[in-house]
Amino acid sequence: MSTRTAPPAATAGPKVELRGVRKSFGATEVLRGVDLDVAHGEVTVVLGPSGSGKSTLLRTINHLEKVDGGSVSVDGVLVGYRRSGNKLYELREREILRQRTRIGFVFQNFHLFPHLTVVENITEAPVSALGRPRKEAEEAARKLLARVGLADKAEAYPRQLSGGQQQRVAIARALALEPGLLLFDEPTSALDPELVGEVLDVIRDLAAAGTTMIVVTHEIGFAREVADTVVFMDGGRIVERGTPAEVLDAPTHERTRAFLSKVL
Ligand code: ADP
Ligand code: MG
Repeated sequence: MSTRTAPPAATAGPKVELRGVRKSFGATEVLRGVDLDVAHGEVTVVLGPSGSGKSTLLRTINHLEKVDGGSVSVDGVLVGYRRSGNKLYELREREILRQRTRIGFVFQNFHLFPHLTVVENITEAPVSALGRPRKEAEEAARKLLARVGLADKAEAYPRQLSGGQQQRVAIARALALEPGLLLFDEPTSALDPELVGEVLDVIRDLAAAGTTMIVVTHEIGFAREVADTVVFMDGGRIVERGTPAEVLDAPTHERTRAFLSKVL
């Protein structure tokens, strides 16, 4: 059971619904009909072996990958498409970018802009995508840096920071657009072991604040403590879904058991 209490609905992030999502690259079918429901403000942890489709799944949610079949919606709004009558029209690039500003994405390898300072990394999207005044965006960025414990690093460049600090900057950058939904793709797997905790601490705080989160991670302890729901993916399908206790302590599928025996 998750130890955190449900946030009030008014402040909780959006719900996410995937229905029959399919995606192929060439002849390889990577997502084979994925159904996933993440409720308002819930944290879902996605487990699964390398190549099972976890990153692709996350990427369909903010339309970094276009689906071949099925649908993705965030708070009932289709991602990447507009419905008119019973026809679907693909959104234009500008509309997709606007939709994407409501979803934060944190990558395994941070993806910071190396030529920009920390504060410039964080203000880039609010200024260029949302047209916020730079001064206001900078003030917000400094508050976010304080929140991730990096108030003194505003003027540093990414190369001057540890991996854990860079990832915390990347989280602050994702938060700068005030997204209700955050997607994390193995946020700690590029870090030295002693730096993992500082990043997980930040993510744990965000979960408590009511943001809807989907977190791909192999950190089982984190899943147990923070997740409302754990799903296990294998071969482009979700093969098991339940509370952390159900999936981690009493998995019903042989493939889940085999995977857990390797990572636990
Ligand atoms: P995971 O994150 O679980 O390791 P991925 O979603 O990254 O899995 O990849 C699932 C499968 O899809 C892998 O076999 C991978 O090689 C393939 N794949 C992912 N992205 C692409 C791409 N852009 N082009 C071709 N194949 C891809
Ligand atoms: Mg991946």
